[in-house]
Amino acid sequence: SKFETYFLMSSADVVEYAKEKLDLFATDAKLECAEIGDGNLNYVFRVRDPKTDTSVIIKQAGDTARISDDFKLSTERIKIESEVLQLEGKLAPGRVPDVYFYDGVMNCCAMEDLSDYVILRQALIEQQQFPLFADHITTFLVNTLLLTSDVVLEHKQKKQMVKKYINPELCEITEDLVYTEPYQDVRGRNELFSPNREWIEREIYGDTELHLEAAKCKFQFMNHAQALIHGDLHTGSVFIRLDDTKVIDPEFAFYGPMGYDIGNVIANLLFAWAHANAIDESRQQPGFLAWIEQTVVEVIDQFKEKFLKSWQENATDVMAKESGFATWYLSQVIEDTAAVTGLEMIRRIVGLAKVKDITSIEDVEQRINAERICLIAAKRLIKERATIRSGIDFLSVFKGRV
Ligand code: ADP
Ligand code: MG
Ligand code: MG
Ligand code: MG
Repeated sequence: SKFETYFLMSSADVVEYAKEKLDLFATDAKLECAEIGDGNLNYVFRVRDPKTDTSVIIKQAGDTARISDDFKLSTERIKIESEVLQLEGKLAPGRVPDVYFYDGVMNCCAMEDLSDYVILRQALIEQQQFPLFADHITTFLVNTLLLTSDVVLEHKQKKQMVKKYINPELCEITEDLVYTEPYQDVRGRNELFSPNREWIEREIYGDTELHLEAAKCKFQFMNHAQALIHGDLHTGSVFIRLDDTKVIDPEFAFYGPMGYDIGNVIANLLFAWAHANAIDESRQQPGFLAWIEQTVVEVIDQFKEKFLKSWQENATDVMAKESGFATWYLSQVIEDTAAVTGLEMIRRIVGLAKVKDITSIEDVEQRINAERICLIAAKRLIKERATIRSGIDFLSVFKGRV
């Protein structure tokens, strides 16, 4: 077999690979294969037998990032992704694709083809609404976060998990891109939208109080091994249909603060709001902005409600059952969530990895405005994080109402 030492596969290689490794296809089947990856890091192939309409996804990790050779990455991350997807599937049934196998030689995995879903970021840019999203994503968040924490897991088992999912290289990307470079551009990688340059230099680079708070958050991210977090839960990591939601791409998973995942969801919903708000009124879908706002509120409030209910049903640590502890713990998680929402909004506008919601705004004045709406809110979410408690609090700060 040619698949006994690692190499980066072409579509033709993947066809051969799929026939050899999977029972799905007949040996004489004429398979179609295309590379469909649009992410920053990996190669995603879709293999399909047109005769039987059977298909599968093969995701392979390269040893550098697709966006830049700057990022030398361990191919181990695909192992983490495969294992975490399988664990998340047990904790939150139906919320992730099925994983068929992981191959530690070729550094790839085979998983369920979700081509009949759409990527949430793109759907939101097109102003589509998904009434079940808040319910689905909050179940995913509560189940994957609370059930992997010391509140529920036996503590020695939890420590084994911390060790297993240590993920230093992917964590470093987050430490650099989210928690450092927007404030100290040590590698000169930031890319500012030039009409906003002076404003950002003053309001972000020049705000030393903000830098201090970002520094506190950075060390919280690195040192708070609270739960097995997804680590990259933006709207490009969510596949959606009207009736279903699936989370993909947990290669950044490690033991970190719960608020990191929730804050990523909220920030990326707010980018969709900023995008829709920037388009010509004649092309705005009625009710879309209101639905995003309602969804932001519901994600926070349903998370809180389901979290406390799950705590009551599943907490095992005796001290965790002390009266008042669950609500105190949850208030800390929401505080982290507020800060991460702000940090994610800043890094996607100031830092290297942008979001299409913002970069696709063609009108210069509208883009300036969208970036400033997000950055002004972001600064407040970070600085005032201790006072932000409910879904309405998030929305009020975003809309500049308090
Ligand atoms: P990366 O880690 O490089 O960001 P992703 O896992 O996010 O890779 O996948 C990149 C793209 O590949 C997705 O946006 C989607 O278009 C496609 N893709 C990934 N997984 C699947 C899947 N299970 N089914 C169908 N398409 C997928
Ligand atoms: Mg991705
Ligand atoms: Mg992607
Ligand atoms: Mg990824």
